[in-house]
Amino acid sequence: MKYISLMGATGSIGTQTLDIINEHPQDFKLVAMTAGRNIDLARKIIRDFQPELVSLSEKSFADTLKAEFPAITFTYGHDGLIEVAVYPKSEILVNAVLGSVGLQPTLQAIEGKKTIAIANKETLVTAGHLVMEAAKRNGVKLLPVDSEHSAIFQSLQGEREKNIERLILTASGGSFRDRSRKELETVTVEEALNHPNWSMGAKITIDSATMMNKGLEVIEAHWLFGMDYSKIDVLLHKESIIHSMVEFHDSSVIAQLGTPDMRVPIQFALTYPDRLPLPSANRLNLAEIGRLHFAKMDFERFRCLQFAYEAGKAGGTMPAVLNAANEAAVAAFLDGKITFLQIEDFIERALSSHDNISNPSLDQIQETDLETRKYVNSLLKA
Ligand code: MN
Repeated sequence: MKYISLMGATGSIGTQTLDIINEHPQDFKLVAMTAGRNIDLARKIIRDFQPELVSLSEKSFADTLKAEFPAITFTYGHDGLIEVAVYPKSEILVNAVLGSVGLQPTLQAIEGKKTIAIANKETLVTAGHLVMEAAKRNGVKLLPVDSEHSAIFQSLQGEREKNIERLILTASGGSFRDRSRKELETVTVEEALNHPNWSMGAKITIDSATMMNKGLEVIEAHWLFGMDYSKIDVLLHKESIIHSMVEFHDSSVIAQLGTPDMRVPIQFALTYPDRLPLPSANRLNLAEIGRLHFAKMDFERFRCLQFAYEAGKAGGTMPAVLNAANEAAVAAFLDGKITFLQIEDFIERALSSHDNISNPSLDQIQETDLETRKYVNSLLKA
């Protein structure tokens, strides 16, 4: 039995993690969780899973639920996230919160020697150098939950990192893969939210449409697998059947395939190095699919991917600027305040106006995050 802490229980990855726990009651137990503002779903999860510790985004939510579940410990806010992350009984932290709030709890959980199943992109994107150093120092495993990194991780089982020629991340192309830049000028929020292959939260669905999601994944892959940016490629593959690949020095390529179902990489992170059945998953039927398609990535069509490579190579606080500017711009787009292509403009302006700080501390990263959001908001007002 593995005891699990889950940050971001009510989100897309969170609820699918709960599906996995539910499918294997002999193997996993949820002991601590965080939820944001979706109190109805939080209530249902608490009733179904009976965790020992629950953190909500606000005190009023914690008070409300404490009255309904007196035997459970409730807490709230950023301190609550950390309490859940370091909960003594848990062995694994599944970090599925959205945004840079996921960083500090992850670092604390690493110091607490927890295994980390990482779905929170911002942690590695903004502070990869701190996270990897802490993980190494504490002998802690960072297990990828994202389908691409899980695919690379699975392709590397039994292999040595020194033999890698390059990593090839596949990209579905998102909601607008077949549209020209001209057509992108007038796309709506509803169209952007309609992803062809994956069912995900709103922010990541927009990030898939701008290709920023793949950009963030390139930076994550750089840290997770210690790979230079010149050795990380992105390939358009619209079916999302090959989840990513590794090419070795001898020209051999190993890939991981499957139907698009996030529960598979989530479960692998929880069972690693073992595997468990997942009866409700659809098995891959290549004869039925017949053909798979691939295309070269167009960096002019998808400018956010270019920005991500540049920010990643520059290092320092640049990836934190990239991430914060993107979060603020995507929020403005979802609120109907800016157009789809203005997301790119805002990110580009934030990056070019920032003075990079190399090897930043956690405080400097958080400061940069705040400053960048302020900057993007000032652009919104202008
Ligand atoms: Mn992904």
